[in-house]
Amino acid sequence: MEILRPGSSGPAVAEVQAVLRALELLAGDAAGESGCGEFDEATELAVRHFQQVRGLSVDGRVGEETYRALNEARWSLGDRLLRYDPERPLRGDDVRRLQELLLELGYDAGRADGILGAETETGLRAFQRDYGLNADGTCGPATLRALKQLGRRVTGGRPQLLRQSASLVESGPHLIGRVIVLDPGHGGDDTGYTAGETTEADLVFDLASRVEGRLAAAGAKVYLTRGRTGGPTAEERTAFANDARADLFLSLHMEAHGSAHARGVASYYYGTGSGASSTVGEQFANLARREVIARTGMLDCGSHAKTWDILRMTRMPSVRLDCGYLSHPVDRLLLLDARLRSTIAQAVVASVQRLFLPAEADPPTGTFLLPAGG
Ligand SMILES: [Zn+2]
Repeated sequence: MEILRPGSSGPAVAEVQAVLRALELLAGDAAGESGCGEFDEATELAVRHFQQVRGLSVDGRVGEETYRALNEARWSLGDRLLRYDPERPLRGDDVRRLQELLLELGYDAGRADGILGAETETGLRAFQRDYGLNADGTCGPATLRALKQLGRRVTGGRPQLLRQSASLVESGPHLIGRVIVLDPGHGGDDTGYTAGETTEADLVFDLASRVEGRLAAAGAKVYLTRGRTGGPTAEERTAFANDARADLFLSLHMEAHGSAHARGVASYYYGTGSGASSTVGEQFANLARREVIARTGMLDCGSHAKTWDILRMTRMPSVRLDCGYLSHPVDRLLLLDARLRSTIAQAVVASVQRLFLPAEADPPTGTFLLPAGG
């Protein structure tokens, strides 16, 4: 789709404005100032606000991801019948609310990601059966009434997230039998940040290969989402990880910024900031970031909840790790050094090990060494 930005105009802009108005992020009616289909300053501000609360990249423009999020935000529970369609799964805030209600009641409805998949349908049918409703897997008025009545009496508990943690602890310290998908960012025509011969795509592929070798030596089954040259879409990358039934998904990037001062290491996990986040993803985001910082001395830019597709459409704990800024003179020197990339790889592997270790055996950050060495 065409990216809508300040200066754009036409029916697509008017449609976006209508949604922003319905969400009360934009003032005025269709005939008013900000309803005329001109992408003005007020519209940009509203888009930024929307992106911020949704955990999207905040750029004030409407690209594919923001457009989809806007579409999903239009639906609130009760607006339409919710039914599983394997061909075209329903997406929306109403689906997310349904998932949250089911999870709060103790039904495994999959992750509260706003996508109505098979797991959500299974959870919904189980709920309907237990409460003497017609177990047709369709959320209509009767089911909705029952959900809302019961939902008010139950508090806390996200059983599916607790189960996620439990299954990780049960697996023990080694990585044998664990499936880990590494996702080197960019690739193909998309080189990421480029300076002369150096591209982010090549560097993160090199880094992923170093991680791959070490994880494999520790007994894990490791897959990369792309080869040295390929450039799959976000959808292909997440589908690959889902098909591989991965236990963990790690996307690797290096950052760049217009300001030469920006530097450091950041990590991202799935979450909306409103509590519906992946606890294991958050835990791994912290572990990986801290290990890299402890071993490289790079600046700590924190861990952040995001709803990016790459984090959201994966069914396992998923993390994106940004290992420094290629646009920063010192970070760049480090990242161009193969030995430093090996150090980062060691840090990543140590954080994976720590994720699968029982808590009482967890060593302090920066000290854990693999028996496999290297
Ligand atoms: Zn990147």
